[in-house]
Amino acid sequence: MPTKTETRGRKPLPLDKKKAPQATVKINNFILPFVQELKGNLKKGMVSDETLVGLFSVLKGTEQQASVFNDPDAVSIVAELQEKIHALEAEKRISDSKLAKQQEVSLNLAQERDKEHLNVVHTESKLNGLKSSYRLLKHDHAALLHREHDCMAIKGDGQRCTKKSTNDTVQNGILIHVCVQHAKSLAKRAQQ
Ligand SMILES: [Zn+2]
Repeated sequence: MPTKTETRGRKPLPLDKKKAPQATVKINNFILPFVQELKGNLKKGMVSDETLVGLFSVLKGTEQQASVFNDPDAVSIVAELQEKIHALEAEKRISDSKLAKQQEVSLNLAQERDKEHLNVVHTESKLNGLKSSYRLLKHDHAALLHREHDCMAIKGDGQRCTKKSTNDTVQNGILIHVCVQHAKSLAKRAQQ
């Protein structure tokens, strides 16, 4: 009985062309397009060790950083930015210290102003004291002038005459100042 030749299914490969056993995994539909793309690229010879390292770093979230620091343009831009940041920080330190000095100056000025304000208040109260002393002295002065220059005669109602004295007259051996009217009346009385 002759052996029946198997015609169904895939023809078995010759022994020397048999592939090594491959891992079999079930692929979730969500990531299937990615795996297919990767397999396609692998067939085209486009997947190297570097590609895999790159893909792994993408999965680990370190890819961007790595690629930024591998790109000389990016590195020089980063260096430039860092330089600018340092310059800005230096400027900030300078303006901070200027501000601190200004605040100190303002504080000193405020203290100075408060001191001056106190001086002004003090001076004002002194001035008010002097003003009232002046008023009292002026009053005394007026009273003294009145005593010195007003008529010294006593009127009929017993009050001192307030007219300006114009004449000197001697009464009972004392020299007194009197007004024109009292000078006349005193002279008349002396004649009687
Ligand atoms: Zn008089």
